[in-house]
Amino acid sequence: MSEINAPVEIQSPDDPALAELCSQLSELSGSLDFQQHDGQYPWPQRQLDLCAQYGVFRWFLEEEFGGLGWTDRQLTEGYLALSAACQTTTFIITQRTGACRRIALSGNEFAREKLIDPLLDGSRFSTVGISHLTTSRRHLATPVLKVEETDSGFLLNGFSPWVTGGIHADTIVVGAQFEDGRQILTVVPTDLEGVQAETPADLVALSGSHTGKVSLNNVQVDRKWLLAGPVENVMAQGIGARTGGLQTSTLALGLAGAAIRFIFKEGEKRPDLLAPAQALEQDHQSLKEILLQTASGNESCGTEELRQRCNSLVLRSTQAALSAAKGMGFVTGHPVGRWCREALFFMVWSCPQPVVNAQLCQLAGISTD
Ligand SMILES: Cc1cc2nc3c(=O)[nH]c(=O)nc-3n(C[C@H](O)[C@H](O)[C@H](O)COP(=O)(O)OP(=O)(O)OC[C@H]3O[C@@H](n4cnc5c(N)ncnc54)[C@H](O)[C@@H]3O)c2cc1C
Repeated sequence: MSEINAPVEIQSPDDPALAELCSQLSELSGSLDFQQHDGQYPWPQRQLDLCAQYGVFRWFLEEEFGGLGWTDRQLTEGYLALSAACQTTTFIITQRTGACRRIALSGNEFAREKLIDPLLDGSRFSTVGISHLTTSRRHLATPVLKVEETDSGFLLNGFSPWVTGGIHADTIVVGAQFEDGRQILTVVPTDLEGVQAETPADLVALSGSHTGKVSLNNVQVDRKWLLAGPVENVMAQGIGARTGGLQTSTLALGLAGAAIRFIFKEGEKRPDLLAPAQALEQDHQSLKEILLQTASGNESCGTEELRQRCNSLVLRSTQAALSAAKGMGFVTGHPVGRWCREALFFMVWSCPQPVVNAQLCQLAGISTD
């Protein structure tokens, strides 16, 4: 490990402190891919502490909430750098930020006062359990997490299928549905009776994100924690969701960038690698331009089309990096093998049905028209 300077708060994406943080995250990233003797993969606490020290958690909130108020374009640049260095840490930050922004922008003074400062300084951890309202278990007739109104608030029963870092969370921002279809978003403190974060799933990649199911059995949540609803389609209220579907594309592009840089590096000794590296880089640059323009409010292609193109690039570039690394890349511990597995995540993470359909057609070699 190289010598670490005392962290300073990163003020903007071109601040050299961001490169300094990323080089530390990159050095630590390989260690997350190895099971410990208890069968679990390590949780990147050190990496998250570093991010807290460098002020990363402040990027995402407006100044009035104690944040640095980075623009969507700056946030995209920041995420591109972080995700090229360590996907697991960056992915955890997206879920943590999802919770943080939903709390800050909810208008719930109590939740804000109680939670925002410790979330920004990294002393507390919050995450989201909301995918069952958007992309997960939507084909089922009954909601997986049901809510009823009580005198003091809400009674939750069921489970949230995917919660990143659930076992580490002090609070979780959870979505739940009434029998009549209305929904709520509420903070659930994890020390409430009946909240059980299950053992994290063993994943194809990103196991260090400690993602797993959180069960809620007769959990009484006081109304003071309510962030939104009851209303139909509570996620469409847009609380905390500023950049729409851009962050998934951003993280995919960050990973693609790391893989392409690897091929260029190999190409220094093997010129035959340069033509494919340049072609991938061209694709990377044009998608980056579209992404940054979109984040700046100048959308030139829809977010779903962008997502599909970023998914395609991350799969192609990580596999090209594996081809370049040859057999050594297939040995556990080499980064390109891990990158190939991490790239698969984008085929499932918060993937809207049209993107899934387009992906399947592309893989099957049939037209999407
Ligand atoms: C590593 C990881 C971390 C995540 N972290 C979070 C998080 O922190 N917070 C969060 O809110 N979400 C999180 N998610 C959820 C994610 O955003 C997606 O919502 C999720 O991956 C969607 O997959 P699913 O298996 O739940 O989809 P589903 O659509 O529920 O599919 C599950 C299964 O149901 C069956 N099925 C699907 N559609 C149909 C149909 N029409 N008819 C019959 N059967 C069907 C299939 O067999 C499928 O395998 C995470 C996901 C992953 C993989």
